[in-house]
Amino acid sequence: MTPDPVPPCPVPDAHRRLMDCHAQWHLLHESYYDPDVFRLNLNSLVPNLRNVTWLLQKRKAVIPDFETWYPQFQQSAASSEIMKWVVKSRNRITKESDLELLSSSRVVWIRDWLQRAEGTASFEPRKTTPEILLTLYRNGVPPVGTATLKRRWVDKALPDWELLAATSEAYARLSQLVWTAHRAFGIERCDLPDRSTECVTSALADSLVRLPCMHLAQSELQTHISMSGGVYEEEAKRFDFDPEKMEEAAVRYGELAYPVSGPVENVPGFMAMARTMMERDGSHGTFAFLYSGQQQVAVRALQFGDQQSKILIFEGIADLVESTRADGVVIIGESWTALQTEKEKELKTVFFPARDRLDRMECLTVYALTRDGRHAELVSMVERGENGETRCAEPMDVSFEAGMNTMVPIKLRWADMQKRGI
Ligand SMILES: [Zn+2]
Ligand SMILES: [Zn+2]
Repeated sequence: MTPDPVPPCPVPDAHRRLMDCHAQWHLLHESYYDPDVFRLNLNSLVPNLRNVTWLLQKRKAVIPDFETWYPQFQQSAASSEIMKWVVKSRNRITKESDLELLSSSRVVWIRDWLQRAEGTASFEPRKTTPEILLTLYRNGVPPVGTATLKRRWVDKALPDWELLAATSEAYARLSQLVWTAHRAFGIERCDLPDRSTECVTSALADSLVRLPCMHLAQSELQTHISMSGGVYEEEAKRFDFDPEKMEEAAVRYGELAYPVSGPVENVPGFMAMARTMMERDGSHGTFAFLYSGQQQVAVRALQFGDQQSKILIFEGIADLVESTRADGVVIIGESWTALQTEKEKELKTVFFPARDRLDRMECLTVYALTRDGRHAELVSMVERGENGETRCAEPMDVSFEAGMNTMVPIKLRWADMQKRGI
């Protein structure tokens, strides 16, 4: 059987220009530490982002239903800070002057889940970690916790957005627009050839999810250092669902129905799966499932060294929440729990994380939170038998406190996204 031929691109000018933008975005990223080249690349990328819509409009006579769906895009673009910035910046670049670019380093100091501080500092691009630490100590940052350094390019006219994030967001909106144009012709992919850069393909997105390659490239520009010295390199491992593997797993674990509703509604289903796996395997990894509505948009396997690396990994999940436009998160994993001591109850604090305590108890937890504030959490206590067998007790519906900390970076991000209108 020969595969169906790929249809020709119905809007080749606009689509090719969109692919140019993708390639140019990577050039912008690569020139991040070279101010002049960065400006040069930005000056080419921004007008091209603008041109995608123009090239599409030129073909409006031949695109089905153009008058129906294009005004919808125009309406959403008119209320988007980023799309308005693209239009204005294009005019500034081509008619008046350069954008007013500012370069700085954002330092995020995190002591624990609840204590964090952010500030702006100017570091030489190639400063060594000990030199940076010394500067931070001199500025009164205590030698505990971690510091994340992010180099930032910002346009004065768009102060809340780092420019790689801003252009990546504009690209996502345009990619969805070009996808809509293809859908108007009844197709979802076309024959435009891929470029030499592996990720620059003619694939289009039907949602506002930012490209994974752009997400990854941006996260490469930040450094996590321990305030007591050393660099952290922990990251969440990408975990793609493979239907075949899911089937294999289903056979291995018996009748497991994969939960398919929204994050909060899926908590009991995920707990049932986790208990089965735990009783069969005697252990369970930690996973983060990100949702947009009822659709799962990303899954990550999480592995932590110490408490600090756990915090940094959840900061990374918050980045992914923004890139994938997730509005719901489910965390599944094996963890430790311990009863608060009388002193802790009295002072309303926790002196030691449960994992560090002698009276700790092993449990499976599944908890979910959505951007609109709905949440659910189930805990199942794990009992180990003498012969190595594992039993998971009937799940308990508990207060959200236990999972609250790990959700702090995600909640902060949703609040920040709200502020930036996304
Ligand atoms: Zn096309
Ligand atoms: Zn790419």
